[in-house]
Amino acid sequence: MAQSNGPSTIPIVDFSAFPNGGKEEQEQVARQIDNAFRQVGFVYLKNHAIPREKVDECFSWSKKFFALPMETKMLAPHPPSGAHHRGYSAPGVEKVTQHQYEKDDIAKSRQVPDYKESYESGNVNDDSQPNIWPPEEELPGFRTFMESYFTECAALIHRILDALSITLALPEPGLSPTHSKSLFQLRLLHYPAIDAAELKNNKRSRINAHSDFGTMTLLFQDDVGGLEVEDSNHPGKFSRAGPIDDAVLVNIGDLMMRWSNDRWRSTVHRVGLPSPKALSIPGSGVNTEGQRNSGKLVELEDAEGAVVPDRYSIPFFATADMDTVIEALPGTWGEDRPKKYEPVTAWGYVQMRMAATYEE
Ligand code: CA
Repeated sequence: MAQSNGPSTIPIVDFSAFPNGGKEEQEQVARQIDNAFRQVGFVYLKNHAIPREKVDECFSWSKKFFALPMETKMLAPHPPSGAHHRGYSAPGVEKVTQHQYEKDDIAKSRQVPDYKESYESGNVNDDSQPNIWPPEEELPGFRTFMESYFTECAALIHRILDALSITLALPEPGLSPTHSKSLFQLRLLHYPAIDAAELKNNKRSRINAHSDFGTMTLLFQDDVGGLEVEDSNHPGKFSRAGPIDDAVLVNIGDLMMRWSNDRWRSTVHRVGLPSPKALSIPGSGVNTEGQRNSGKLVELEDAEGAVVPDRYSIPFFATADMDTVIEALPGTWGEDRPKKYEPVTAWGYVQMRMAATYEE
């Protein structure tokens, strides 16, 4: 059920009915997810069946990878071409590139560089974008783990597609076959520690405001926080979407918004200054505990030398098979709600978005 202990606007849903619950139970859960995607475009799922130990292990691999010397990380370089999204991107290198799965606000990106590094991998069967792994001896076990984490995340995407199919009363097997190739992307992200003042004054950003490009995104985040989601009824107003224990955050992307005839929202989000309790002033003895005790917590973000700690997050981007025809799904249109968009294949949609980007 929806609770109010997290960010006020994003519902928390217990997903344990998938895949093994009864029909009624599944319908109830599916309805909650449907509501969340209609209202906010985001939902927190608890009991999503990816074991906590696996999520924790993914974060520790991510930390180990980013802690490698730069020249080692550069043994698995992200290709300069804009069409092959695999491998390592150093901080500041990946600026205004158009991702297959994320649409940056280009104008803003040019003004304020994102300060982050990333490592991307995908489906082992994706011949169009082969994976680019660091040499096994540099980080033994990394590749094996990432491949198995990919499989877990892909399975969760398919279970959420099952839930969405139920809400629209689609005939079996529903939406899952439209993602049969699971051409998804697992991205490890590291935001290095940064002066709070730089983030606050928009000199640098962690990730500028953007919406996701594909059908859905899973997001695992550490305790630092900083993710903010725009209130679609009040553009420009953002509220926090921080981490919730054992929950994965799921959001709708632009392609799914179009496919659902705008029933489900693809909501703009960004990563900026986290809540003041994450900040500290290194070497000064001033930390969040001291500040909390003296009642000065909120002032910390304005204090000279205040530092936002490193943040790690793990998004998993899903999209439909490229030959899927994206046309208003049954149950999302009718006499009182005409189809808003022309049919387009998932491939055609990507081309359209890329072209639009290059014109800017
Ligand atoms: Ca995103």
